Amino acid sequence: MIDTLAAMQLEEVAMVRAKGLPPERAFNIMSSNNVGYYGPHEQVLRSRPGGDEAYWRGCQAGVYTIGIESDGTVKGCPSLPTAPYTGGKVRDLGLEEIWKNAEELNFVRERTTEELWGFCKTCYYADICRAGCSFTTHCTLGRRGNNPFCYHRAATLKREGRKERLVLKEAAAGIPYDFGRFEIVEEPWDAGDAAAQESSPSQLESTPSPSTSVAPG
Ligand code: SF4
Ligand code: SF4
Repeated sequence: MIDTLAAMQLEEVAMVRAKGLPPERAFNIMSSNNVGYYGPHEQVLRSRPGGDEAYWRGCQAGVYTIGIESDGTVKGCPSLPTAPYTGGKVRDLGLEEIWKNAEELNFVRERTTEELWGFCKTCYYADICRAGCSFTTHCTLGRRGNNPFCYHRAATLKREGRKERLVLKEAAAGIPYDFGRFEIVEEPWDAGDAAAQESSPSQLESTPSPSTSVAPG
């Protein structure tokens, strides 16, 4: 799908140019964060036609984005789970005070690569990427700092004959903005379907083999 989106974007720009129009007139395929990071189409899918070349520069929760739930709960991004990221409620505090002072909104402004773990800790792009989307990492592995939904990561592991899959360890409670918890199982690239069965949501207990389980430390 990523290849298709990139091809569509390039084709659109070529068509616009063929009509003698500037590339800015082409429609823009905007990728969200989790098309993976730093793959072969990174600049095509993150740049506006005719604009500066762009690439993923890390989560912007509490920097350029804010989320306000229907009851006034304020978070750094609408996608973030409620419980760990509530900075306050607009019915109790001013929005400016929450934005400036709530630790729950400040985590991107203040964080360093210290919070990274697992593959992301060792990654070439660690300093700028910081494990990609905070919502995705927290809601997948229980805390930020390690993101298995990454093109660069999957491609690197594939070159080494390895891959990762996720095994559900704890189901979400079923309330708004909640999240479950998975663990990453690393295994040989050619591991078969039997291992993949462990990833079934109905299988909360598993014994991965011959693979390595990576959980938050
Ligand atoms: S492995 Fe982690 S730090 Fe590296 S690019 Fe992927 S998400 Fe970002
Ligand atoms: S949590 Fe994810 S969706 Fe929200 S600002 Fe960060 S990267 Fe974007």
